[in-house]
Amino acid sequence: VASIINGSSPLSYSNGTTIPLSVFSLNSFVNVEKGDPVAFGPFWEKVKDECMVDIKGEEWMSYFGDTNNLCWYMVPQMRDAILRLHKVVGNAVTKDKFLVLGTGSSQLYQALLYGLSPSEPSHCPINVVAAAPYYSEYKDTTDILQSRLFQWTDNAALYDKDEPYIEVVTSPNNPDGTLRVPVVKSGVEGKIIYDLAYYWPQYTPITYKFDHDVMLFTFSKCTGHAGSRIGWAFVNDIEVAKKMIRFIHLNSIGVSKESQIRAAKMIGVICDGYQNLKSIESDHLFFYYSKRLMKERWETFKGAIEQSKVFSLTKYPISYCHFNKDLSEQYPAFAWLKCVEGIQDGERYLEKLKIRTRGGERFGVDAKYVRVSMIGTDDEFVELCTRLSNAKRE
Ligand code: PMP
Repeated sequence: VASIINGSSPLSYSNGTTIPLSVFSLNSFVNVEKGDPVAFGPFWEKVKDECMVDIKGEEWMSYFGDTNNLCWYMVPQMRDAILRLHKVVGNAVTKDKFLVLGTGSSQLYQALLYGLSPSEPSHCPINVVAAAPYYSEYKDTTDILQSRLFQWTDNAALYDKDEPYIEVVTSPNNPDGTLRVPVVKSGVEGKIIYDLAYYWPQYTPITYKFDHDVMLFTFSKCTGHAGSRIGWAFVNDIEVAKKMIRFIHLNSIGVSKESQIRAAKMIGVICDGYQNLKSIESDHLFFYYSKRLMKERWETFKGAIEQSKVFSLTKYPISYCHFNKDLSEQYPAFAWLKCVEGIQDGERYLEKLKIRTRGGERFGVDAKYVRVSMIGTDDEFVELCTRLSNAKRE
């Protein structure tokens, strides 16, 4: 299937004639349940020669990356690349903060629960909350080991205890793409983890340089290289940073050096593009390419949803993006659908259309809601839209 980014979009539902040949058989499922961010693959193929990394047999053997850094397993190339990327994008203040590297931001989330829990043993675990709908993995990640330090206490909007808590604020949010602020009302001051996995220009206008005590980022959703398992946290408090690094020491003795070297290289390719800038509108600029892809997908998807008349979509505001220097809508990594009156279970409804999705209950809300990935392959996305637009309600 031709890439929709080439401009010759095969997805024009207005005339209903240009639906491409499908690689899917009628009986096979199109899986948009997971958030595997492979959509940007065609960009990386375009610049593949610049992205080659060469690692010799004797290189990167040590557990250590930089013994002068608090985060001793992080190699200087990785640190420099992360700082350079934030400087180019302008989405976070990095000065005077501790940078902690993790095997994906999933590991850092766990390190943070440990790092933010009281060090003195108390008889009551600290409560961990997030406003529903929240990212479906927080709950199980928090509770898997039934820790005596912390426990999942569900919806932040309903939390009214005067007890210590950690609130996770995901902005833009997974699953619904909304921009979030803390919501807990409690007599006790809580600790806040800002999960900024999707605060990149292809998904949302960059409106502020965030400057919070604890900010989480992931390479997975920034460039699409989820397989490298690289995430990072900016932390203000050195004691929290030290505890996180101790957690990662005990959990995996650091982060793969090969992954760090590759991630640093990819980030370098993105930043070089902006440094040697001739025009801001070039398919050789990662965020230009990826934003255009997300925009095209969203426009196509909205058309398919309108035709189906089965679902309504979240509405997003338009804001000024300091990175792109334009007014823009959001193009989230997931679509969050709500069933119209008379349909109770969105996941079951779509299952019948051979579309595999993740239902609202996994995100702490009811089954009328369903999440659909917008960052899969072109083939999956084309098939998703075809099936949705054919799904007219009788
Ligand atoms: N936070 C959010 C909000 C996510 O959506 C994801 C990935 N789906 C993660 C964290 C984890 O990302 P990773 O471990 O790949 O860095």
